[in-house]
Amino acid sequence: MTLELLDAGSAWAGHRRYATRGLVRPASHAELADVVTSGEPVRVLGSRHSFNDLADSPGVLVSLDALVGEPVIDEARRTVTVDGAMRYGELAAFLHAHGWALHAMASLPHISVAGAIATATHGSGDTVTNLAGAVVGLDLLTADGRLHTLGTGDGDLAGAVVSLGALGVVTSVTMRIEPTYDVAQVVWEGLGWDVLTAEFDTLSSSATSVSVFTTWRDDVAGAVWQKHRTDAAPARDLADLSVRRATTPHHPIPGVDAAACTQQLGVPGPWHDRLPHFRLEFTPSAGAELQSEYLLPREHLPAAITALRSLADDLRRLVLVTEVRTVAADELWLSSAYGRDTVGLHFTWVQDVPAVEALLPRLEAALDGLDARPHWGKLFAADAATLAARYSRWDDARALIRRYDPDGVFANPYLQRVGLR
Ligand SMILES: Cc1cc2nc3c(=O)[nH]c(=O)nc-3n(C[C@H](O)[C@H](O)[C@H](O)COP(=O)(O)OP(=O)(O)OC[C@H]3O[C@@H](n4cnc5c(N)ncnc54)[C@H](O)[C@@H]3O)c2cc1C
Repeated sequence: MTLELLDAGSAWAGHRRYATRGLVRPASHAELADVVTSGEPVRVLGSRHSFNDLADSPGVLVSLDALVGEPVIDEARRTVTVDGAMRYGELAAFLHAHGWALHAMASLPHISVAGAIATATHGSGDTVTNLAGAVVGLDLLTADGRLHTLGTGDGDLAGAVVSLGALGVVTSVTMRIEPTYDVAQVVWEGLGWDVLTAEFDTLSSSATSVSVFTTWRDDVAGAVWQKHRTDAAPARDLADLSVRRATTPHHPIPGVDAAACTQQLGVPGPWHDRLPHFRLEFTPSAGAELQSEYLLPREHLPAAITALRSLADDLRRLVLVTEVRTVAADELWLSSAYGRDTVGLHFTWVQDVPAVEALLPRLEAALDGLDARPHWGKLFAADAATLAARYSRWDDARALIRRYDPDGVFANPYLQRVGLR
């Protein structure tokens, strides 16, 4: 390989350096093809927002940042085709400027399109699928130098979208779009635990996209964030559920300045300026942090809350904030919402790796029996056998990975540990 080997540096949160030999940044698709066919193990690095060793490689990491051009909108088909390394925030601004929108955004717009769909990254909403749910096509460069174009008529697409980077390099992604729309965001404070568990369906269906934030206090569960499309019937007023409408902007983490957050207080604005919690030009969340998330069949939410409250002392010690969100079912084999309407229990942790890693097995044991699927890009303890039992298309996914990457060029210790290689 003739490309300059750069220092790969650290994950976004700064808690782990990539163990790879180095990072290359091809300036053309021909140079990219040289990298993947060199015979050395390769992984693509997206925007570095995953918290575990998923993106790492025993060989080299490749950044596609120099291969991002302008997205192409097909108005007749209502799709956009975008280079894999483009960040959602930049894509969203482009789409909005041309009168178009995506159906969903994650909590932050900083992540790359290919990196986010590879892990089933999601936002929130009873009828809103994760970001990968919009994908109708992919261009995939495999280690033999072939470019595979997968579309909706192709039986492999459902296994190739949430790929964990295991099949090859996703050079471009085609996604469904819709006419642009506005969203208004309102925060409600003082949510009680009894209301959260008894009225969760009322809360989660009360707006287009709903999040509940908690810090596991005994006296109060926390806050409800409603993000609602202004072209839909009005959001449900929650005042009868003993919550108060906030009169000042909030950050998800109590006590943190809300300057990094998108506009609240019910002021309508473009979808991409409201659906993410955080603004592209600011550091999202806390920065120095860790994250975990478990995605369960949504009917298990009350049982999960009861189980986790039994760990409240530990959670209060390590949690900056927990977020509860819903995700609509999809058909993507390794998606955390595959085949079931889902509720996600997310943890933003203080950046204490040993303490968080010590708690995760106990936390996962507390959720035992609730069919929890860990977020692929966050910290978890579940082993290969546990994961395999939670995905009905697991064996098909393994076979697909072996077919597209028979020599394991895109394999790494993470994929071996979770049993996909
Ligand atoms: C502050 C913060 C907030 C977050 N909020 C959310 C949230 O709201 N919802 C949620 O679900 N998750 C959330 N996450 C997790 C994050 O969305 C995922 O970890 C996501 O996968 C990160 O995307 P990335 O571009 O940084 O990819 P990376 O972490 O760099 O890589 C992730 C995977 O994608 C692969 N990959 C990247 N690009 C390509 C490509 N072109 N071809 C093939 N494989 C590729 C990598 O090899 C790796 O396997 C958050 C993370 C942070 C740090």
